[in-house]
Amino acid sequence: MGQSKVLVGVYIACAAAACATAAVAVTQRLKVRAQKCTARKILVEFQEACETPLPRLRQVVDAMAVEMHAGLVSEGGSKLKMLPTFIDRLPNGSEKGLYYAVDLGGTNFRVLRVQLGGLEGRVIKQEYEEVAIPPELMLGTSEQLFHFIAKELAGFVAREGEEFRLGDGQSREIGFTFSFPCKQTAVNSGTLLQWTKGFKVNDAIGQDVVAALQKCIERLGCKMRIAALVNDTVGTLAGGRYWNNDVMIAVILGTGTNACYVERAESISKWTGELPKSGQMVINMEWGNFWSSHLPRTYVDELLDSESLHPGEYGFEKMISGMYLGDCVRRVLVRMAQEAGIFGPHVPHTLLESFSLQTPEMSRMHHDDSSDLKVVAEVLKRLYGIQNTTVGIRKIVVAVCDTTCQRGARLAAAGIVGILKKIGRDGSTANGLMRRNDTNGIHDELSVNSTPGSGKTVVAMDGGLYEHYSKFRNYMQEAVRELLGDASKNVSIELSKDGSGIGAALLAASYAEYVPS
Ligand code: ADP
Ligand code: MG
Repeated sequence: MGQSKVLVGVYIACAAAACATAAVAVTQRLKVRAQKCTARKILVEFQEACETPLPRLRQVVDAMAVEMHAGLVSEGGSKLKMLPTFIDRLPNGSEKGLYYAVDLGGTNFRVLRVQLGGLEGRVIKQEYEEVAIPPELMLGTSEQLFHFIAKELAGFVAREGEEFRLGDGQSREIGFTFSFPCKQTAVNSGTLLQWTKGFKVNDAIGQDVVAALQKCIERLGCKMRIAALVNDTVGTLAGGRYWNNDVMIAVILGTGTNACYVERAESISKWTGELPKSGQMVINMEWGNFWSSHLPRTYVDELLDSESLHPGEYGFEKMISGMYLGDCVRRVLVRMAQEAGIFGPHVPHTLLESFSLQTPEMSRMHHDDSSDLKVVAEVLKRLYGIQNTTVGIRKIVVAVCDTTCQRGARLAAAGIVGILKKIGRDGSTANGLMRRNDTNGIHDELSVNSTPGSGKTVVAMDGGLYEHYSKFRNYMQEAVRELLGDASKNVSIELSKDGSGIGAALLAASYAEYVPS
């Protein structure tokens, strides 16, 4: 009797527990659904704010062309600095001898040497080494930074093998790729205007960076002359032009972003120097600083900007370049974690750290094509200790990556079409500018031609973002085609991989003291 009472009691207790568990499960399910619903709302709001339909992109194209013009007319006429580079001739394949390049301007620092054999031999041999820049040097003194570069360069020169040979009477000349805005006063001198991309070596601003590096090189007893100061875009342009005469524009999409192009010297109204014989000059746009009210700006961009090293500057770069895309995504995820609790009751503290989600990780999640989004789960777990996300939440994370990537890529496309428009190669003007090779094929000329759209224009692209983030690349190319319509058959966008390193060496050859026999 007593035993059966106990059994009944146990039975009732079990039933109650089961009910409670079921109730908890239902509540849990409802909670997950509510979280997803709030997260979805945040997503849709973000997607709408990021939209770049064709009419809007066209406004960005026009704004780019207008700002380019304004920047060429007067100093400070636009947020686009439109810096004359003093480069009025580009490599053409006939260069000969041994040349060096150093490249500072992103996550890595590179040194390179190349043996050039003229039109027949072309690039006989090249070698390069790459080192990560110690982060403390990005925020230290200019002396420390330039000494570091000089030391790496001297070490590299000391390892020069027998296959590399200087020509008779040739000394080692270097192209210095320095991818920060500089005001040049000659092809081999320029003062730093401003740091970007996470660098902040305050005492370098206003210094002649060529003189600073040259001094450090000499102090190490190394005999080398810096022949040309180039920006990575200018290097890419030179590297592209070495192989293909139709290259007129170069664009970098890496940690940062920038563009340069060949302009008619007479359109540079602010230019007070002598007009170059070729009639042309390469213009370093510093397009990362482009701004227009037509750019789709969101709360994410405002937060990112206000917490950045240079608030109010480089707004375009902050929307499209590799340094920032991942962080845009992270900021949307933070909002979803805070307002919708999608990653549990507490927001993982590492998620709150700026730049904790880097663009390569964003790209991995975005390209995840497994049915249960394994890669997304793995990245969230590894970076933030986030576990047990549902596939639904992972899909939302992918959608945030997609929106951010697509906006960046389409804006970059609008920028490129803006340049094409400025030089009359977007198919919109009856007076398209045509290039005509002169008799020796060395320099090109820009001349007004009445048949628009004939003649190809090649845009040389470089940078890790463009190279490795294939969805970004595809979105960008698609938007260029959309914007150009029929004229897109005359424009080709080509990856010019690591053209900037070799391009700087090629420019060292173009501007060397040494004249090969
Ligand atoms: P830098 O611009 O620093 O000179 P790179 O041109 O190699 O160097 O670009 C590196 C940048 O490219 C990285 O900071 C990153 O933002 C981006 N990147 C590199 N790999 C990938 C990838 N797999 N997916 C997306 N972005 C990438
Ligand atoms: Mg680079």
